[in-house]
Amino acid sequence: MKKVFGLLGHPIGHSMSPIMHEAAYKNMNEEATYVGFDVAPDQLEHAVKGIRSLGISGCNVTIPHKVEVMNYLDEIDEEARQIGAVNTIVNVNGYLKGFNTDGRGYIQSLLTVTESLTQKNILVIGAGGAARAVISAMAAHQPSKIVIANRTEEKAQILADMFSDVSASIQVLSILEAEKQLGDFSIIINTTSVGMSPNVADQPISLKNLAEGSVVSDLIYNPLETVLLKEAKQKKAHTLNGVGMFVQQGALSIEHWTGHFPKIEPMQEVVLSQLKKSK
Ligand code: NAP
Repeated sequence: MKKVFGLLGHPIGHSMSPIMHEAAYKNMNEEATYVGFDVAPDQLEHAVKGIRSLGISGCNVTIPHKVEVMNYLDEIDEEARQIGAVNTIVNVNGYLKGFNTDGRGYIQSLLTVTESLTQKNILVIGAGGAARAVISAMAAHQPSKIVIANRTEEKAQILADMFSDVSASIQVLSILEAEKQLGDFSIIINTTSVGMSPNVADQPISLKNLAEGSVVSDLIYNPLETVLLKEAKQKKAHTLNGVGMFVQQGALSIEHWTGHFPKIEPMQEVVLSQLKKSK
């Protein structure tokens, strides 16, 4: 019987997950379909019960449900617990276990533009859910130092405190101070929504002091090249947009559901073509 996978989010109208997952299943010869479910916040608990009663094999979870959904699952994987959010649910005979593939997905995409994170000084701009996933996954790669800079500094401090056990060298700087010290970092990651469509002229940090040869990465994929990445490229940095993270987190979800890691290329192809169409 055809397996059914899905996405729980609100709204989900512009989600590229259905076409990306369908492309992966086709390439894997997996008899499966992927359905977007627009679930209003007050319906989330019923929707999760529906996964069990309808025999849906697995679901992704997106904004605004990633934290709240943890209350309705039977078990939460350690990594997801550390991140404090679930983006993947696996249904084994009605027993629902929650995982988070965002952090590892991001690291897999980052490792396509840099050999390793070990002994690197990394600047993370932003302190929201995406920053949490990225920092959690990065800590395992033993960077020399992780610095968080965020518009609301208190939130950066809360995040740094949260990971002080796993990564001893985690610090907080103001955005202004991070701009001044930018030359000390070889990897700079924007995890904020600054620069995302429609506010495409905005930039989260000035790159005036960027060291040549650094990596500048933006989690945003719409537009494909943010103003931040454009400037970084002009300054001869290696750049990475958010498409890789989006594809890799989806591929890791599929691995949880099917036991097989899908081919990345067909997934990436449909996502890029969709993004170019919607420009
Ligand atoms: P979130 O939890 O709402 O966090 C938003 C972050 O952006 C916070 O640090 C916030 O700072 C900052 N921010 C928002 N507006 C700002 C502004 N005008 N000026 C300065 N800082 C601002 O959101 P999230 O889930 O972490 O997502 C953040 C971004 O990552 C989004 O663009 C999302 O599309 C992207 N993302 C991409 C992927 C992918 O697969 N590529 C996956 C997840 C997320 P304050 O704390 O000061 O409010």
